[in-house]
Amino acid sequence: MILNLRSMDAQSASNPTTDPGLHVATSPQQTTPRTRSDRRPSSDAAVRAGPDTDAGETFEIRDVAYRVDGRTILEVSDLDFRSGSLSGLIGPNGAGKSTLIKLMARQQRPSAGSIRFDGKALGEWGDREFARRVAYLPQETPTAPGLTVEELVALGRYPWHGPLGSFDEDDRERVEQALVRADVARFSDRLVETLSGGERQRVWLAMLLAQDADCLLLDEPTSALDVAQQVEVMRLVRSLSRDEGLGVVVVLHDVNNASRFCDRLVALHRGEVVARGRPAELVENDVLQSIYGVDMGILRHPSRGYPISFVQ
Ligand code: ADP
Ligand code: MG
Repeated sequence: MILNLRSMDAQSASNPTTDPGLHVATSPQQTTPRTRSDRRPSSDAAVRAGPDTDAGETFEIRDVAYRVDGRTILEVSDLDFRSGSLSGLIGPNGAGKSTLIKLMARQQRPSAGSIRFDGKALGEWGDREFARRVAYLPQETPTAPGLTVEELVALGRYPWHGPLGSFDEDDRERVEQALVRADVARFSDRLVETLSGGERQRVWLAMLLAQDADCLLLDEPTSALDVAQQVEVMRLVRSLSRDEGLGVVVVLHDVNNASRFCDRLVALHRGEVVARGRPAELVENDVLQSIYGVDMGILRHPSRGYPISFVQ
């Protein structure tokens, strides 16, 4: 049994015969217990190496296109995302950010081109095997009727223990840790459907943490959060990449959060990568103007020095 998160629109686009929403599929594969120590160590070199070097690559995207009814929604010739690095995907609404992340999460298949994860084409991965390595948070999370917060977060353990394997002490511990790390332990017994949008967003993040994958694909994980919570979640995500070596790709609308927390940024516009690099390289008024189509100004944060953008 593996947990397969599919957003409604992704589901209907990629597999119209399956139920939308939270989807649990069976898989005959054997489970193998894994500890956190199995995870590759954080690669400082990879973080320092900057964009698109060969160090610690996890996702390799080559000549990928995604078309719907003959219309090209996304076209990416060459893009890599590495382990131990926090990459921000930015760009205006409709730029193709969710489409790209869904292709990487195997929620949709590219119309052309190839995506490899850890050297292996996405189509060659078994469901459970992939779910142990890559966790995906859709922009719109499925409804979880009747599930408590703890039950939902525990679903993150499915790729590890399977439907017949017992939910052991280790699973329970990881669920507890995930609840605490995402700051939702106090909601453990609440029904997910009774939570606010921001609370729900952090509960889903907790489920991804419980999944214990090497790579997180997060589509606007901070969209429903207040300013303080946004910073908390971004700190957590940065710590997962820096201290625990995870590769994280996060779609963000807030360029300033992206600039402050991400190691590198990739900007999409009309389905194409229009800029990529370190935040200091991208957060320039002419670059932002070409991405967002509005006149932007840039200041330096008074104590931290990272660039802060504002609309003129
Ligand atoms: P973003 O996440 O950057 O806001 P999306 O990747 O969701 O953008 O969408 C990019 C563009 O592709 C949008 O114009 C959207 O309407 C269109 N699109 C995405 N998926 C589909 C689909 N299944 N059918 C038709 N159009 C789609
Ligand atoms: Mg989107």
